[in-house]
Amino acid sequence: TTTVYYDDDADRTHIDDKTVAILGYGSQGHAHAQNLDESGVDVVVGLREDSSSRDAAREDGLRVATPTEAAAEADIVSVLVPDTVQPAVFEEIRDELDAGDTLQFAHGFNIHYNQIRPPEDVDVTLVAPKSPGHLVRRNYESGEGTPGLIAVYQDTTGEAKEEALAYAHGIGCTRAGVIQTSFREETETDLFGEQAVLCGGVTSLVKQGYETLVDAGYSPEMAYFECLNELKLIVDLMYEDGLGGMWHSVSDTAEFGGLTRGDRVVDEHSRERMEEVLEEVQDGTFAREWILENQAGRPSYSQLKEAEENHDIEDVGGRLRELFAWADEADDTEKAEAPA
Ligand code: NDP
Ligand code: MG
Ligand code: MG
Repeated sequence: TTTVYYDDDADRTHIDDKTVAILGYGSQGHAHAQNLDESGVDVVVGLREDSSSRDAAREDGLRVATPTEAAAEADIVSVLVPDTVQPAVFEEIRDELDAGDTLQFAHGFNIHYNQIRPPEDVDVTLVAPKSPGHLVRRNYESGEGTPGLIAVYQDTTGEAKEEALAYAHGIGCTRAGVIQTSFREETETDLFGEQAVLCGGVTSLVKQGYETLVDAGYSPEMAYFECLNELKLIVDLMYEDGLGGMWHSVSDTAEFGGLTRGDRVVDEHSRERMEEVLEEVQDGTFAREWILENQAGRPSYSQLKEAEENHDIEDVGGRLRELFAWADEADDTEKAEAPA
């Protein structure tokens, strides 16, 4: 069985007298930096001179330096710039890593696919909250915590795992629970999940469902509600209580229809495609494609993004979300007042 680590399993002496450099102040960076700072850890944020994030970090009361300066004074360097720029940022800071320092990541891509080759005398760890950064911050403030993963790729001090757990404690992850994995497993499951199910699979399912209804003459508004908006309610039920919790809450008609038709829509052909997608992750085909795409200035990526933005469902959804008040509580008042 899997060991889940909680607050009591973390020994804060492994981080309390250390300086942590947070490189990048985006989604994960701002959350790690503020949570560690409020946990009493010495934090320095590393950002380039002309960085648009400098003001935000300063306004949040944090010390800001360049990535090189921050890495120079830090014992733990947490690399939280986008995955595609990490190799270049690493080249800038590699000479600042002293023996026994820790190079830390929140995703294993660059280590696993050899885009970053760390010096042999540093620890290399991963502390990855399983959540977008703004929730890592919000959950810390509310006292809830965010579940997370830790992994050790290189352990020169013999304390890499203990230190990763202490860091996970500092950002609030051990409140919710942390499990140990490897860089390989984290990287491959993360890529497969976002491609086949979470981001890729689900958007394709939504678009195909929407197009099927609209092409058959139903109104785009109905198709939008049915195939996109209601998805959240279904996912919430699965999140709370598994597939069974969802089946329990929908009508018997929905349950029978779903159980008889679902596997016809996402069938053994889709399963074969999933296996192909997984193989491309495992054998490095996807990594190579993404690295080359970036080197070429992202031509396919830009084209695909544009096509996605121009899909009818975005237009219909944008208009409907303006007219109805739902979801984002912060915007509710404004939306309720919008002219119908
Ligand atoms: P972001 O895209 O939010 O990072 C943006 C930050 O990086 C900004 O502060 C930006 O500052 C800085 N930055 C961008 N380019 C450079 C550069 N060339 N040199 C120096 N700084 C730069 O990153 P994420 O938080 O999304 O991702 C960070 C890591 O966390 C990744 O490894 C990702 O896979 C992982 N992760 C992300 C999750 C998420 O929810 N987003 C979830 C779990 C893991 P500037 O103003 O200078 O551009
Ligand atoms: Mg993920
Ligand atoms: Mg990912």
